[in-house]
Amino acid sequence: MDNCIFCKIANGEIPSATLYEDEEFRVILDLGPASKGHSLILPKAHAANLYELDDETAGKAMILAKKMAGRLQKALGCDGLNVVQNNGECAGQTVFHFHMHLIPRYINDDAGLTWKPGTLTEEVKEEILARMKEQQ
Ligand code: 5GP
Ligand code: ZN
Repeated sequence: MDNCIFCKIANGEIPSATLYEDEEFRVILDLGPASKGHSLILPKAHAANLYELDDETAGKAMILAKKMAGRLQKALGCDGLNVVQNNGECAGQTVFHFHMHLIPRYINDDAGLTWKPGTLTEEVKEEILARMKEQQ
């Protein structure tokens, strides 16, 4: 992808604060961090989002998330950590190259990763269960 900034960063064409690199991934510090240590896992091969990501890369990305979560915890002494992954503009995705956010959390920080809980009604529950069954 010629015009993808994360392709360029992942493949080293644009410099970044790199915490980890191997043949398939680069992990960098986010330039607009929600908290101290907010990092991004970038596959080097372009996929726009989770729907497009191949299974092998998806599996390796999660294993890498686990590795980096442990390292961030040890290095920064965070009290918790969110793994966030946005797909589509309405879900908050702004860069259309698959990435996972690792957001270290600290007691009383104001990273603000919350949502307003709704209510799961019987009707909606049954509808979703039926529709998802069709997808199996
Ligand atoms: P999204 O909103 O797509 O899930 O996340 C994109 C993230 O990439 C944002 O947190 C934003 O701060 C970060 N970001 C955007 N451009 C750059 C960049 O050029 N370098 C780095 N390190 N982070 C970036
Ligand atoms: Zn890309």
